[in-house]
Amino acid sequence: MGSLINGLHHITAMANDPQDNINFYSGILGMRFIKKTINFDAPDVYHLYYGDDIGNPGTVLTFFPYSGIPRGRKGRGQMTVTSLSIPQGSLGYWMQRLQRFGINHSSPQHRFDETFIAFEDFDGLGLELVENAHDRRAGFTYGHIPIEHSIRGYYGVTLEEDNYERTSRLLTETMEHTLVGTAGNRFRYVATENPGHFVDIIHQPEGARGMQGGGTIHHLAFGTDDDTTQLDIRERVAQRGLHITPVIDRQYFHSVYFREPGGVLFEIATLPPGFTVDEPKESLGSTLQLPPWMEQHRAQIERGLQPIALDMEQFR
Ligand code: ZN
Repeated sequence: MGSLINGLHHITAMANDPQDNINFYSGILGMRFIKKTINFDAPDVYHLYYGDDIGNPGTVLTFFPYSGIPRGRKGRGQMTVTSLSIPQGSLGYWMQRLQRFGINHSSPQHRFDETFIAFEDFDGLGLELVENAHDRRAGFTYGHIPIEHSIRGYYGVTLEEDNYERTSRLLTETMEHTLVGTAGNRFRYVATENPGHFVDIIHQPEGARGMQGGGTIHHLAFGTDDDTTQLDIRERVAQRGLHITPVIDRQYFHSVYFREPGGVLFEIATLPPGFTVDEPKESLGSTLQLPPWMEQHRAQIERGLQPIALDMEQFR
């Protein structure tokens, strides 16, 4: 294990309607709605966070829902699939549940030692549920999904690259990942032995490049212990000649961003302070949270946001 990168931290995607977004991820998939805030760079847009009970790194999916945004296109130079981890024996439950809510999914498929189904959210974001025996995380439920079937967090992510070697070298030489599996044109890397952190690269020299829009990934964040390790890894990335931002305060973590050579936006985020910095664990996600530097504009910001609500009764 390395000392600067401890796996995946969060994944951020572009969505369309915020109510559809919360219905899909909390209602149908049963992930905890842990934070309702805004895009700090575009305060008229929500930033919605889902995860396990406290938003542990490796469980957090976040969305910028822009109502009316045109759909993007999945393709080369993008992260195209987010894989979510479910316990052995849970795939049948989930296939029934997705069908009940009209979500199309693939038939079960096999890859390495896992079985998975592929499907999309309402905006076309690529998702998988991966059944596996080695994930011991507790998972989360609002009570409507039996805890023995609930999502544990991510299993991993998939990037499509036209020149996988460049991204591979970045991961293995600078970001403390190890190549742990190869299957056809799929190369699997991981930085930690904990479950939930696989980074798969599909080598895809042909086909269209991806285009940002609704239903596409905005960025992929890796975790680092603290502000000190963040500066160390930032320096190492800069030494590769990649342009990396200064440290930015994202309220729940501190972040630096850079584009990997294949085109995917990477972020490196600190573990502290976490999602309980501005509201207690019990009430995470219940009220609109603003960073201190935006609090003075709260009334105006709230007027500009479409009201959303989580009504679990629809999803029993
Ligand atoms: Zn981020």
